Amino acid sequence: MAELPRPNPSEEGQPFWDFLKEGELRIQRCTSCAKFRQPPQPMCADCGSFDAEWVRLSGKGTIHSYVITRQPIHPALVDRVPFLTVQVALDEGPHLTSNLTDVGPDDVAIGMPVTLDIVDKGDGLILPLFRRA
Ligand code: ZN
Repeated sequence: MAELPRPNPSEEGQPFWDFLKEGELRIQRCTSCAKFRQPPQPMCADCGSFDAEWVRLSGKGTIHSYVITRQPIHPALVDRVPFLTVQVALDEGPHLTSNLTDVGPDDVAIGMPVTLDIVDKGDGLILPLFRRA
């Protein structure tokens, strides 16, 4: 059976995955102007600063947008369609994209409250996945 491709983070994105392994959702934030940088970037697009910190967030938010995937785009997804990919507006402001695990395509809705679970999929793979709050 085919395996899903694993996350392959950039140098700037690696801390996101390292914090997940510690059980924490952290998003990069500019220490100069306090704007979140998601996805992580070496330089702030708002003020040009190279300084940043990783801020712990609650994982709570609401669905801002979603996509229903009905055609398997990878051999490992043949038995997993349909599935939902959601863009969540986290309560603290930044958006995070991942899968919604416990809601079907007929029940998803913009504005639905969700919360993040940090899920150990085995073999060193830790994924941030959303479920209905
Ligand atoms: Zn900035």
